[in-house]
Amino acid sequence: DAERILTASRRPEDVDAALRPKHLDEFVGQKAARENLRVFIDAAKARGDALDHVLFFGPPGLGKTTLAQIIAREMGVGFRSTSGPVIAKSGDLAALLTNLEDGDVLFIDEIHRLNPVVEEVLYPAMEDRALDLMIGEGPSARSVRIDLPRFTLVGATTRQGLLSTPLRDRFGIPVRLQFYTVDELERVVTRAAGLLDLGIAADGAQEIAKRSRGTPRIAGRLLRRVRDFANVLGVDRVDARTADAALNRLEVDPLGLDNMDRRYLTMIADIYKGGPVGVETLAAGLSEARDAIEEVIEPYLIQIGMIARTARGRCLNAAGWKHLGLNPPAGAQD
Ligand code: ADP
Repeated sequence: DAERILTASRRPEDVDAALRPKHLDEFVGQKAARENLRVFIDAAKARGDALDHVLFFGPPGLGKTTLAQIIAREMGVGFRSTSGPVIAKSGDLAALLTNLEDGDVLFIDEIHRLNPVVEEVLYPAMEDRALDLMIGEGPSARSVRIDLPRFTLVGATTRQGLLSTPLRDRFGIPVRLQFYTVDELERVVTRAAGLLDLGIAADGAQEIAKRSRGTPRIAGRLLRRVRDFANVLGVDRVDARTADAALNRLEVDPLGLDNMDRRYLTMIADIYKGGPVGVETLAAGLSEARDAIEEVIEPYLIQIGMIARTARGRCLNAAGWKHLGLNPPAGAQD
């Protein structure tokens, strides 16, 4: 849905690059992940070795790509980037791997969407730094092993469980990213406002932070829209009132939920009496892809306790009913 301002996936107008922290110390939040990466990076550098392969998992917009770039910079190596669906044939991956330089980071976004045949090529590459190529066909076919440079594969995926076990097992450093707290997002917004040369009061940054669905990419996007609004009004310092007015205009509600979230919640409430209802049914009713519902819409609604994912389907929780201003039907389970 192109109209959705809150969607956490990348959109063309996002100038993500401009706001990306360049060093681990500049990266806000994700304390556990940061501290672990610091240790592994320093240890690998001290040994003069490449960093072990890293798997980032978590909802879109939480900083997976940014961290992959930071790893390359901190290690002082090159950064190559691609994504699972883009690598169509094993030959494409072989070409990428043989072109790496010693120690390089190869970042594969959406790694769960790799074609299984291509994935097989990754196993020996990750484990033995080798490529097994088949030469010839039929009875005379033979396999030739080619050595690869040392490299670090950094994979990103929305959920760890989407990866096949053999692939998942080959990552020495799995890192789960969490939604950000309001305080952390307030720091993200304040920092981004500085980079955009926009005056912002603490309460203005906090208002945007509260409405960013725990996600830095959304915080950056909302900040830009608030800036447009402030420019038009001739406001040179964004405070909570300006931010609130702009965000209401964008139909981002006080909890940061947008029209899509509300349509989703309303459908469970009105049509399915609070659930349980299966995700396929919801996807059809909302004309959304199941993936988008499971990976973009639901994680945050679960995080803030609005819905629950159960074995029988999705259910609206008390907080969800309350947010919609409705009473749960008598006998509804929470
Ligand atoms: P992902 O790869 O998980 O979808 P990205 O790394 O592309 O997310 O981050 C999306 C945007 O959010 C980028 O513009 C980035 O600058 C910003 N961002 C992400 N994490 C942080 C953070 N911890 N501090 C500041 N900005 C961040």
